[in-house]
Amino acid sequence: MDNDTRTLLNLTDLHLNFPHHWLKYKVIKNVRVAQISCTLSYTPRACPNCGVINRGQILKYGFYQAKYKYGQFRAQPLVLLVKTQRFQCPDCHTTFNATSYLFEKQRTISRDLRREVILQLTRIQTIKDIAHDLFISEASVQRVLLDLADQYKLNLNYLPETLCIDEFKSMRSAKGKMSFIAVDGDQSCLFELLEDRRLCSLFKHY
Ligand SMILES: [Zn+2]
Repeated sequence: MDNDTRTLLNLTDLHLNFPHHWLKYKVIKNVRVAQISCTLSYTPRACPNCGVINRGQILKYGFYQAKYKYGQFRAQPLVLLVKTQRFQCPDCHTTFNATSYLFEKQRTISRDLRREVILQLTRIQTIKDIAHDLFISEASVQRVLLDLADQYKLNLNYLPETLCIDEFKSMRSAKGKMSFIAVDGDQSCLFELLEDRRLCSLFKHY
């Protein structure tokens, strides 16, 4: 793969090596999927488990085949098949895998695709639509959304001078029939969402 194609596809990690024929097409569930094959390997600086500096003692220990969803190109899903180097550390007797900034640990969607999901989540559309457009499962979209929710830390040390409150119908699974929304009227931004709008819940929360 030449540099321009790498840049176009954002596969810029120099630890990725591509074979001469790196692109194959496969029909999966009646959808034509573009599969890009590559190998991820390098010499690690240290063992991530015990921290020992690699002075040549960390051994290459075979490969494992990882598969990452990589979004879509011209309305066709892209999948990366990454032959990932495994290493063995003789100091702590553990093994570990080569890593790349393009992928996250224990995730089957690439960082790029995750960013795309986040962008899509900023628009008004259903999770089902996003999953359909990006050729991923609804559960994958929900996982990204839940990760974002975990990162969102409420500042509970203040109350805005103007607090606009209302009730709204959120989800069928919500406790109570309606949920509670509070908006910072000065900043025009969301202040709080609570699952239950009933007074007993609000007193408990505030
Ligand atoms: Zn080690």
